[in-house]
Amino acid sequence: MPDRVDWHTYFMNIARQVATRATCPRKHVGAVIARDRTILSTGYNGSARGLPHCEDVGCDIEDGHCVSAVHAEANAIIQAARIGVSVAGAELYTTASPCWPCFKLIANAGISRVYYGEFYRDEKSLAVARQAGIELVIPCPESKPGRSSPSPDNSRTPGRSTSALPASAGTLPGSPGSRP
Ligand SMILES: [Zn+2]
Ligand SMILES: [Zn+2]
Repeated sequence: MPDRVDWHTYFMNIARQVATRATCPRKHVGAVIARDRTILSTGYNGSARGLPHCEDVGCDIEDGHCVSAVHAEANAIIQAARIGVSVAGAELYTTASPCWPCFKLIANAGISRVYYGEFYRDEKSLAVARQAGIELVIPCPESKPGRSSPSPDNSRTPGRSTSALPASAGTLPGSPGSRP
């Protein structure tokens, strides 16, 4: 099956599709949280629930950034919380690299690996990823399904994982990445 896409492409393609639902015109971003090759949650950037969309009323800009929109990665984590799905040890696909606030949420949610489509804005997220125990990578287009794909069978022990945060990390104020 030469046309069959690998897992990274599969999840990133879905993230790009999710991004088409975004409602902030400044940037359309989509995120997919997956574990064991199964999608746990998705998110795109848009206004807080119940508030008007940026595309209808305009963005609320502070310091050059829209502060109305909840980012895609945050919304994917929040969506999982709403329906009671743990994302500890999961992997996140996002069409743009996580900004610093989203990176901190990702770290404390226990997400161990982030695949991103393009670099966006915050060098800091990339700089501290290793320290926070998170792999931040652009997916390898050569990866093949069933080989070195996103998740191994054990949901709590991703691949080469010195990086998985304990499930309890999200509840601790001093978890990795948040220390001064
Ligand atoms: Zn906006
Ligand atoms: Zn963000």
